[in-house]
Amino acid sequence: MIDLRSDTVTLPSPEMRQAMVDAPLGDDVYGEDPTVNALEALAAELTGKESALFVSSGTQSNLLALLSQCDRGEEYIAGQEAHTYRFEAGGAAVLGGIQPQPLPFNNLGELDLDQVAATIKPDDFHFAKTKLLCLENTQAGRVLAMAYLADYSRLADKYGLRKHLDGARAFNAAVKLSISIKEICEYFDTVSICLSKGLAAPVGSVLVGDQITIDKARRLRKMVGGGMRQAGILAAAGIYALENNVERLQEDHANALFLADSIRNLAGFNIKEEPQTNMVMLDLPKTRFSALKAWLAQHGVTVSGQRWVTHRDISTDDVQRVLDLCVEFSKSS
Ligand SMILES: *Cc1c(COP(=O)(O)O)cnc(C)c1O
Repeated sequence: MIDLRSDTVTLPSPEMRQAMVDAPLGDDVYGEDPTVNALEALAAELTGKESALFVSSGTQSNLLALLSQCDRGEEYIAGQEAHTYRFEAGGAAVLGGIQPQPLPFNNLGELDLDQVAATIKPDDFHFAKTKLLCLENTQAGRVLAMAYLADYSRLADKYGLRKHLDGARAFNAAVKLSISIKEICEYFDTVSICLSKGLAAPVGSVLVGDQITIDKARRLRKMVGGGMRQAGILAAAGIYALENNVERLQEDHANALFLADSIRNLAGFNIKEEPQTNMVMLDLPKTRFSALKAWLAQHGVTVSGQRWVTHRDISTDDVQRVLDLCVEFSKSS
């Protein structure tokens, strides 16, 4: 089976499983799990932040970031297609009384900063209070330019807004730019990073930020039922991921690029844009794509939509196999 649906489908490697087996454990709600503590210290150090919190998922991490930085009746600005706005069941609104203000992403995955400035609400009791500006990096596989982050940060500071990054795949961005994750995190108060995407851990995310915010998030994590006990067994996989699976993300990027560059030349195939990281965005008419999806499924390749994601469990041989199948499909239809 070749599964291109998402980089969430990776299974822990034998070495990662061994690290989980070997992990010293304790009760993390008492702050006594040495492996969770080690993961949080490592995440804080890598990102250049004061503190870090191990959480069950990226959704929980983003939720805690919003709940810890916005009060009821306050507002956060995020992309219309942002995970925090669109794919998290409206958690911040439901649980925190926090109003989302979505704006469209441009084709670079950015929020237009003039539009953001025009959307920030003046201090007037008619309005919700704009409190936080949220970006996503990578956004649909696109890497935000560092100059843009600097401009974004300046704008947020000018209006006294908090800055959150949904950095589910921030390591993909850092590896693509050949920079340290610290350099990206510098522009944000809080950053959420998934361990269970390209980094290939089975479970978990980390939320990093200043001590006061992370302390608040820790209380809120308990409130939403995210206080896990011997969670070190999971955190061990996270440590393994951070120590071993970051640099290898470039293999996923190379595989995505190879796949895109090869299939874009096939008759009846089209790619939306050059992949920057681990996502190939196809652009086929709906019915043709359905036929392709069925053809691939018959031959052991699973895709969901026209976003194909490379990851640790997709080898270069797998990519070649997908390509061969696309070639055959292209000739026969
Ligand atoms: C996957 C993802 C999340 C949420 O992570 P889960 O662990 O699935 O809850 C958040 N933001 C982005 C951009 C993601 O891709």
